[in-house]
Amino acid sequence: MKYGIGISYDGVSARAGLFDADGKLIARGSAVSEGTEGYAEASDKLVSLAESLCSRTGKRAETLGLCVPAAVDGAEDKILRWDGDVRGFAGAPLARDLSKRLKMAVRIAGSANAAALAEARFGAGKRFDSFLFLRLGESVGCGAVVGGEIFEGFGSGGTAAEHMTVEAGGIPCPCGRRGCLGQYVSGAALVRDTKRAMFEQKNSALWRCAGNPESVTAKTAFEAAREGDPAAQKVVKNYVFYLAEGILNLVNLLHPQAIVLGGEIAQEGEYLLEPLRKYVGERLFIGCDKAPLSVVRASLGDGDALLLGGFALAL
Ligand SMILES: [Zn+2]
Repeated sequence: MKYGIGISYDGVSARAGLFDADGKLIARGSAVSEGTEGYAEASDKLVSLAESLCSRTGKRAETLGLCVPAAVDGAEDKILRWDGDVRGFAGAPLARDLSKRLKMAVRIAGSANAAALAEARFGAGKRFDSFLFLRLGESVGCGAVVGGEIFEGFGSGGTAAEHMTVEAGGIPCPCGRRGCLGQYVSGAALVRDTKRAMFEQKNSALWRCAGNPESVTAKTAFEAAREGDPAAQKVVKNYVFYLAEGILNLVNLLHPQAIVLGGEIAQEGEYLLEPLRKYVGERLFIGCDKAPLSVVRASLGDGDALLLGGFALAL
């Protein structure tokens, strides 16, 4: 039987999984660093992590797929841009170097694309030929799957739905534009809007749910909204509005079979999905009578989706 490795590396911690050909997890491994290492040290760490999985299990892996929270050229397997503290990766021949040292076929993908691929092969996307995956975490990521494969776009730059305008002239985004989807539907945006609602409504249940403004998370507004708190319900309604508007833009452009929602915020389940489906369903434009759109939750855990995505990438 053939085996493959999937690694998720965010510049500080690396998590790895060894899988059999059916995508069954055989073993896990991890490594953490200071986050200040350069290209050479990081490569060494990834090599030892892969080697330790093989030696520990006695299995010989033939492939390795690495996912990183960066812009990746999927055709060249090169990291194009990695914001933050990770230095020396942009343009470096990481896949080639790892492949040479490990004697495995190595592929690299951005995290959202890898998670989308995992859902396509092993998760909620399996029953769809085409779907858009949106990861609603601290930040927002997007992966488009067409014909069961990741749509890379011209120049293999992938998709970046998080930078689609949903509010012209709205909140400034690090991409240089204003009003991008990511500025309204990320975990960071939810925390910002929840804190604002707290200061506007001093008697809101948000105060009890959070304890204090510093302890607000992306879950706080949902928790208080479920209890019937009007200020929290307003925050959630606003979140659903922007997410639905973004989804409608994407559907009008690409008309996929489904939208698959992953990430921490998607774990709110039907409390989020039900109003979202209603809003989107009432405004669908293209051929929706013949081909209704499914809006579903991702079925793989956030962390495992990245490991599986890495594994599937290099198959
Ligand atoms: Zn942007």
